[in-house]
Formats: sequence, structure tokens, C-alpha cells
Amino acid sequence: MEFIDLKAQYKKLDSKINNNIKKVLNDSHFIMGEEVKTLEKELADYVGVKYCLTCANGTDALTIALMALGIKAGDAVFVPSFTFFSTAEVVSLAGATPIFVDSDQRTFNIDFNKLEKAIIKAKNETNLNLKAIIAVDLFGLPANFKEIKRIAEKYNLLIIEDGAQGFGGSIDGKKACSFGDIATTSFFPAKPLGCYGDGGAIFTNNKDYYDLMESIRVHGKGTFKYDNVRIGLNSRLDTLQAAILLPKLEAFKEYELDERNKFAKMYTDKLKDYVKTPFVDEGFVSSWAQYTLIFDNKDERDYVQNRLKDKGIPSMIYYCKPMHKQSVYADYSFNLDDLCVSESLSDTVLSLPMHPYMSGDQINDICNAVLESIEDYKNGK
Ligand SMILES: *Cc1c(COP(=O)(O)O)cnc(C)c1O
Repeated sequence: MEFIDLKAQYKKLDSKINNNIKKVLNDSHFIMGEEVKTLEKELADYVGVKYCLTCANGTDALTIALMALGIKAGDAVFVPSFTFFSTAEVVSLAGATPIFVDSDQRTFNIDFNKLEKAIIKAKNETNLNLKAIIAVDLFGLPANFKEIKRIAEKYNLLIIEDGAQGFGGSIDGKKACSFGDIATTSFFPAKPLGCYGDGGAIFTNNKDYYDLMESIRVHGKGTFKYDNVRIGLNSRLDTLQAAILLPKLEAFKEYELDERNKFAKMYTDKLKDYVKTPFVDEGFVSSWAQYTLIFDNKDERDYVQNRLKDKGIPSMIYYCKPMHKQSVYADYSFNLDDLCVSESLSDTVLSLPMHPYMSGDQINDICNAVLESIEDYKNGK
């Protein structure tokens, strides 16, 4: 059994993908070929924003966004502690200071009440310029952007949506990657929409940001490539990856997102009375980058994971260490919040196989194995 079955997806889409790859090889426009522009237009249409800019990966997407927003040394950016490392890394790379905020136990996303507390504390206790919030759509569920926007407006902060895992999700029909001043995503193969290597994209409705980011993406170009007006990056999406993403985006829109939601519901129906299953609030849709359970304690979580492994069922711990516990941030003095939920999540979460090419039988087998393991654990076996 695969945790994310990319081979099954390729089997289904192989002729379309092969044809598209062949076309790129024949055209030999490997950098910024026409597929890149076509993909950007389709992504912007799907997400419902004016501008989409593809780039080399989801981390660069965040870096380019921070550069366009002018985030620099002396600035503070509020980020969740319970996330993938990139979310904080890009802030440090920009020379700014990440301030870690705890997550909501139910949604895995940044806790907006604690966010406001951290903002007030940072205002009173630091000399940093409070600049922005990076809210993450963790495991596919959009962060609570209604509340985050209210807080950002109150304290005059910019919002960046890290939608690396959120692509396809929505709030009241409005798609993920459309929230905030700038939103980003990743096409790393295991993300809800993945390519066959690294890739990423940036979304905005702001023309000035878009123009700036287009320049930053290619060495800070001015009117043409050899006119350099600012320091930038080399961060383009390969034409080959764009050509691979086009049929994958079609499948994502046509059935993959629905299949993910169908399987998530099957998991929840079978497991919810025995273990804490993911909470999705009214109006929210998740793209189920991960389907993640919360156990009562670390001992039980580890026991269940080992039992699943014995039965040939892969599972993953995302994330075993919150940001504020990473050794690079060990001596860090800007943990203004109580980060107990992030710490307890790291000890108790377990993600089950999740992808659009599962079968009902597979879900049943996995659920039965989980339930059996829980029962054995409770019986002290
Ligand atoms: C995967 C991921 C990223 C980084 O994306 P890459 O394409 O791997 O650089 C950033 N943030 C989150 C939350 C992610 O899951």
C-alpha cells in the first residue's frame, strides 16, 4: 500500500502526460514555454484571482512574496509553530524575525485568539516592526481567514496565505490561494496538486505586487532579461513541469478533489467514535493534503503506528517537532506565546494514507487496522 499513490495517478493520466511531455521535447522551449503561460491562466481562473505567477517551488514562492512586500531585518512576521519548516525559514532568510503562534487543537491551523495576544505582546515587549502574518492551510484546510483578516486590519498587518497544502480547499465557496495580500502554493509531488519535481505558484489580485514578483522571479529584470533593476532570484517553473501539471489540474478539477473528500468522509464515519478525527467547520472545504488523527497520548499514537506498519499500512507523523523546538531556533527569544497545543499535537498526530486513487476496501482495511490497534492498546496488549 502506498501513502500517496502517484503511480496509480500516472497510470490513469499517462497518455495525456506523455503527449504533453513529447510536445515540449519537440518544441524545445524548456524555459518559459507556452505551457507555462497557459497553466498560469488556468490556475488563476480556478483560484479566482487576477494574477498567477509560477515559480521553482513553494519555498521560493513564499520568499518572492516576502521580497515583494518588502519584509526585511527589523520586521516581525507571525507564523504558526505547527507547520512545515519553510513557513518560518523564509522569514529568517529575509532577515526578519518569525514570531511563533500556537495552533487550534481542532483545525491544526493558527489560533487567531492566541495570534492577537502574540501581536499585543510583541508590540509591548519588542522593538520590531510588526509587518505580516503567514497563515498556513495545514493538511489542506484553509486557515480561518475571516478572523485573521479582522486581526490584520486592526493591527495594520499584511497577510500571506501559505497554501502549499491548501490548493483546492475553500471557505464559503471562495478558493484557497485567494486569501491574503499574496498567496502561495507548492507543486511538490506529494501535495494535492503535484508535478514531477519541484514547482510552485504565487497568487494575487494586486497588479503592483504581480509586476514586482515577475521581475524578482527572473533576476530582478527590468524591461528585458539583461536589464537588471533589483536583486532577484532565478525561480522559474520548467516548461516540462507546466506541461505535466495541465492534465493533472484537469483531473484535480474533474474528480480528484471530490474523491479525496469522499475518502475523508469514509475515514471519519468509521473512526470518529474511537479517535479524534479532523474537524472541518461549517462552510470550509479541505483538499485533504493529509488525513490526520489525534490520539490521547504519544504512547498510544506510537503503538498504533507500529501496529499499522506491521500490517503493511504506511502512516506519517506531520510534524514531529514544532518550529520553536527546532535546533536552529533553540536559543530563540521570540516565543511570546504559550505553544502547548503545537507541542501536544507533535506528540499525538498520525496521518493515514490519503490520495484520490484509493478504494473503499482499502479505507475499510485501514480503519479496521486502526480500530484493532486502539482496542489492543486499551486492553494493554
Ligand atoms: C511543502 C510546503 C512548503 C514548501 O514547498 P516546497 O515546494 O517544498 O518548497 C511550504 N509550506 C508548507 C506548509 C508546505 O507544506
